[in-house]
Amino acid sequence: MPSRDKTPEIVIIGGGIIGASTAYYLAKKGASNVILLERDLLAQATTGLSVGGIRQQFSHPANIRLSQQSVRVFENFKQEFGVDIYFHQAGYLFLAQKKETWDDFLSSADTQRRFEVPVEVLSPEEIKQRWPYLNVEDLIGGTFGPKDGYADPYLAAMGFANQARRLGVRIEEKREVTGIRAKGGKVKGVETSKGYISASVVVNTAGPWAGEIARMVGLNLPVKPYRRQVFATKPFDAIPRPVPMVIDQDLTFYFRGEEPNILMGMSDPYEPSSFNTHVDRDFMEKVIEAAVHRAPILERAGILRGWGGLYTITPDDNPIIGEIPGAEGFFCAIGFSGHGFQQGPAVGHILSELILEGGTDFDLKPFAYDRFDDIKEGEKRVV
Ligand SMILES: Cc1cc2nc3c(=O)[nH]c(=O)nc-3n(C[C@H](O)[C@H](O)[C@H](O)COP(=O)(O)OP(=O)(O)OC[C@H]3O[C@@H](n4cnc5c(N)ncnc54)[C@H](O)[C@@H]3O)c2cc1C
Repeated sequence: MPSRDKTPEIVIIGGGIIGASTAYYLAKKGASNVILLERDLLAQATTGLSVGGIRQQFSHPANIRLSQQSVRVFENFKQEFGVDIYFHQAGYLFLAQKKETWDDFLSSADTQRRFEVPVEVLSPEEIKQRWPYLNVEDLIGGTFGPKDGYADPYLAAMGFANQARRLGVRIEEKREVTGIRAKGGKVKGVETSKGYISASVVVNTAGPWAGEIARMVGLNLPVKPYRRQVFATKPFDAIPRPVPMVIDQDLTFYFRGEEPNILMGMSDPYEPSSFNTHVDRDFMEKVIEAAVHRAPILERAGILRGWGGLYTITPDDNPIIGEIPGAEGFFCAIGFSGHGFQQGPAVGHILSELILEGGTDFDLKPFAYDRFDDIKEGEKRVV
């Protein structure tokens, strides 16, 4: 018999980093009625497939602030959660080939310094001196953030989830949300694969499936899934450690160390939106070509394996965070593109403030759901 819960609850849909972090901060603030529903297993979808990069080198102040707040959590993760997430502040090195990219880097570096983000602006010669394995011939320069780095996203999400559970959050895996009930402009509960749960608050943290959850309240949000593929080399020690996250902005190629291997990936600007996560060997060849161009020594590295995951992308690559007007009690934290893992701690904290205190000091205007001109009036109508 499906269960039928009667008490209004805070229901979180999706157990990746964003849902797990939200559950934790709600419980930490004293909420005793939080349920997290995950249709599969915790942190196995996008979060577990992420390459775990954590940077403060953003161009928009709102993203810088989200990352700064999150970095503080990552730095103290072991003390707060009892889990080592292998946070290595090996740095992020952004590389520019084109003049407009370089101009953007310089303008971003100014913004970052205003927010006290440590960032170094480097010439090709300085880059070559510090990372001799890089080909700098076609570069104008780069920026390096020594406090940036990477961590294990699966361990981080599980740290949040386990601590949330200890604080009383009910976490149910293998329970899918199939519908949302609403009345008079307010959410009332969720239909699930194992019965109805009444809820005065429903939080959409469903990652690439967030658009489907939003449609359950009649909302058509511009969040779409796009495949991103990652490849891991066989153990490769020819590049001295630590290997920073190297981002070749104009090639959209990146690589970083992952002991004892190297991880690498690239975006395909021509790939349409889909839920496809298969590994494409032809694309792998293009990634290897980019890798060998930027770090010729990688020619000697063999590929061990590859995997595909999904970015959830909005028209401006920034998330939608907040309660949706016209759907009281329906909150979204979705559309994080390639930075949802690193922003997870701050976003969960902000959502807990919005839900329990009715507001937050964080200026969420850049992440408002209706900032896109291409959402037509009819599509904004909810519940
Ligand atoms: C290849 C790759 C590399 C990346 N690298 C980085 C990086 O270096 N740094 C960074 O910060 N970010 C990175 N990202 C992005 C980052 O992984 C995501 O932004 C982040 O994990 C999103 O977390 P989430 O909790 O929103 O979504 P998810 O982790 O996808 O969690 C959503 C959950 O919702 C569940 N769900 C969906 N529908 C339902 C339903 N109806 N009922 C119940 N549950 C449901 C899903 O099963 C899933 O577990 C990368 C992503 C990819 C794919």
